[in-house]
Amino acid sequence: MNLEGLNIFITGGSRGIGAGIAQTCSKLGANAIITYNSNKEEAFGLIKGLKNSKALHMNSEDPNSISEATKEAIEIFDGKVDGVVNNAGITKDNLMLRMSAADFSKVLDINLKGTFLVSKAFIKPMMKQKSGSFVHITSVIGQIGQAGQTNYAASKAGIEAFSRSMARELASRNIRSNCVAPGYVNTDMTKNLDEKVKANLLKHIPLNKVANVFEIAYPVCFLLSSDASYITGQTIGVNGGINMC
Ligand code: NAD
Repeated sequence: MNLEGLNIFITGGSRGIGAGIAQTCSKLGANAIITYNSNKEEAFGLIKGLKNSKALHMNSEDPNSISEATKEAIEIFDGKVDGVVNNAGITKDNLMLRMSAADFSKVLDINLKGTFLVSKAFIKPMMKQKSGSFVHITSVIGQIGQAGQTNYAASKAGIEAFSRSMARELASRNIRSNCVAPGYVNTDMTKNLDEKVKANLLKHIPLNKVANVFEIAYPVCFLLSSDASYITGQTIGVNGGINMC
């Protein structure tokens, strides 16, 4: 797999899965721009170790912030954007009876609307160059559901449907859109899970382990690369087999 010289924009790249994707993109030769929201130090610490990489502030809940960061990225990349990874995402879990409309909307705004706005911002340069690859990070929860995560599951299922529609809309311009749907990955998002819940989860994962971020990053890089040139509108599940039926 080779990403030599490709310009890749990664949202929420300062930690967790996004940081793993940025490190792997860079290792494979890409120039990466990562975005951070609150953790500026982590972001600058990460890019110090990566060749030809930059970090920009972007809050996915704020359309102006998305507009500023994506414009700046296009300038830095001199108008050539080869790949975009929509990775930024949050959870705000609660059982439906207790979930506020505000918490439902917040998750939809950051995860789904943020993905739409970031993707839209990069379509023009990709149309001009007649190539590009979008990879959206969804979740097995968007496919199988989870009690306490109606907002999160809806946002991730929404991104999959969005991605397939986008793939149809842009295929004639040689722009691809795919999703990677992780299962359970060892990151800040999952570190506070109760030990009992974790043990129970493992029972349902045929590979009997939680993923590390690089096990998600490599499939993402594959979809970004020209090795995946005939793949669009698809979702690759990277979940240890949890959703096999
Ligand atoms: P994480 O909490 O470590 O990372 C989330 C990233 O999103 C961070 O970089 C954070 O800064 C960014 N972010 C959060 N709110 C933001 C905002 N308002 N504006 C801009 N950026 C914001 O968690 P992670 O596990 O690395 O999650 C990365 C992606 O993977 C998410 O989309 C998540 O839904 C998805 N995912 C994670 C798992 C898992 O088990 N960890 C499983 C499936 C899918």
